Amino acid sequence: MTYDFDLFVIGAGSGGVRAARFAAGYGARVAVAESRYLGGTCVNVGCVPKKLLVYGAHFAEDFEQAQGFGWSLGEARFDWATLIANKNREIERLNGIYRNLLVNSGVTLLEGHARLLDEHSVELGGQRYSAKHILIATGGWPHIPEIPGHEHAIASNEAFFLKRLPKRVLVVGGGYIAVEFASIFHGLGAETALLYRGDLFLRGFDGAVRKHLHEELNKRGLDLQFNSDIERIDKQADGSLQATLKDGRVLHADCIFYATGRRPMLDNLGLENTAVTLDKKGFVQVDEQYQTAAPSILAIGDVIGRVQLTPVALAEGMAVARRLFKPQEYRPVDYQTIPTAVFSLPNIGTVGLSEEQAKAAGYSLKVYESRFRPMKLTLTECQERTLMKLVVDAATDRVLGCHMVGPEAGEIVQGLAVALKAGATKQLFDETIGVHPTAAEEFVTMRTPVAS
Ligand code: FAD
Ligand code: NDP
Repeated sequence: MTYDFDLFVIGAGSGGVRAARFAAGYGARVAVAESRYLGGTCVNVGCVPKKLLVYGAHFAEDFEQAQGFGWSLGEARFDWATLIANKNREIERLNGIYRNLLVNSGVTLLEGHARLLDEHSVELGGQRYSAKHILIATGGWPHIPEIPGHEHAIASNEAFFLKRLPKRVLVVGGGYIAVEFASIFHGLGAETALLYRGDLFLRGFDGAVRKHLHEELNKRGLDLQFNSDIERIDKQADGSLQATLKDGRVLHADCIFYATGRRPMLDNLGLENTAVTLDKKGFVQVDEQYQTAAPSILAIGDVIGRVQLTPVALAEGMAVARRLFKPQEYRPVDYQTIPTAVFSLPNIGTVGLSEEQAKAAGYSLKVYESRFRPMKLTLTECQERTLMKLVVDAATDRVLGCHMVGPEAGEIVQGLAVALKAGATKQLFDETIGVHPTAAEEFVTMRTPVAS
């Protein structure tokens, strides 16, 4: 049987583009279909524009702190429309780069919605294409719980294109997006409250990190309301929103932003024409090599619901391309030591096991913690403190987890991830010479365990 393509990728996001380019580089005939935007979530409504908004929000404290170093500034004013227009221009530039990357690597780019007709055929724009392998890399979509009035709420997709910065924002959720956007809105000057249904946000992160960020955000004046959830939203005559909470309280806002997780994007994908199955949470079910229940169909990235991070989608895309077209170079993705950052203000950076996870896994531990005021702040009024923490296996001395809350935590933890992947011991950390004066050197100078 001859096919139009060796590989048909549905979705030109982080994972799909990586798989398509690598497969084409290995000599495969590849097509990629994209219905919305090249580069997917990360480039258009995710990591990239989010980080640009975080940079924007950070300036507020930079201006304030500059005074301690002798700078005097006029009244700082912020214009949301300028930030969004500049952000949009940058995203358009990146869309163009993605187009060139695909075309120059010999991939056939098909713009439109792709729908599976059977396990080797896809329909797009009235045309039928056949392929030996099909890769589902369709990503995810924000999920807003269907409470009365949910249609008045927005999610991250809309937040990037608001016409103006709302005066009062309620952010609902306690995960990455809620914490990051609460920092963005608050930093840019909106009166911001974060409502989380549990006792403490960022479930799954190290307990000390969660508490430390809680304290730091409180110090900055962000209104954190835990054990709070909205029961209904009503639009008022003046266009503002009224949120009635489950405990009977009533809050008023101009914008209610939900960041309550993401569902897999499977809309009108035609899965019913195939043997592909879904897991309990509705994500596409795959085996260790990203194979679905249909032998010719694979899936990667957010749509499989494992770890919803761009570098993970990239690694999975690469693994699939190698497995299909260069098996001698195939290496499984290592899900054990995935570094990650929450770009709140201040940042969280983390890699490896939290203290709670390490305990649950049966390790006996030595835990090292350091809290200090960053040097840059010593000439300012700012009382922010940085947290650094190492979780060490007492039996082998291996460092199991590194955690930080503080400026540039994401940047710092990337290097530590290499050390953890190499199996570094605490002794190796101790023998590593620090870079002075930096915050990062604290990771190689913590000597006395706080707990064992
Ligand atoms: P996506 O990038 O979502 O790509 C899927 C593509 O498929 C989309 O372009 C979509 O239009 C297309 N598509 C869907 N259905 C079809 C169809 N039927 N036909 C044709 N095309 C279709 N991760 C990080 O690592 N760091 C961060 O800082 C970070 N920040 C984030 C901030 C936000 C607000 C969000 C929402 C996510 C963030 N993420 C971050 C997560 C990251 O964006 C995702 O993990 C990553 O984009 C997943 O890549 P993917 O290839 O699986 O899917
Ligand atoms: P998360 O899964 O991280 O967090 C969802 C939050 O919403 C949790 O606090 C959860 O509470 C809460 N929640 C879920 N359902 C409800 C509900 N019905 N009512 C009230 N609260 C609810 O999802 P996000 O949307 O924040 O982000 C999606 C994913 O995108 C992240 O998991 C991450 O993988 C990725 N991402 C990565 C970023 C980065 O790398 N910096 C930045 C942004 C996103 P509970 O904990 O109680 O279940």
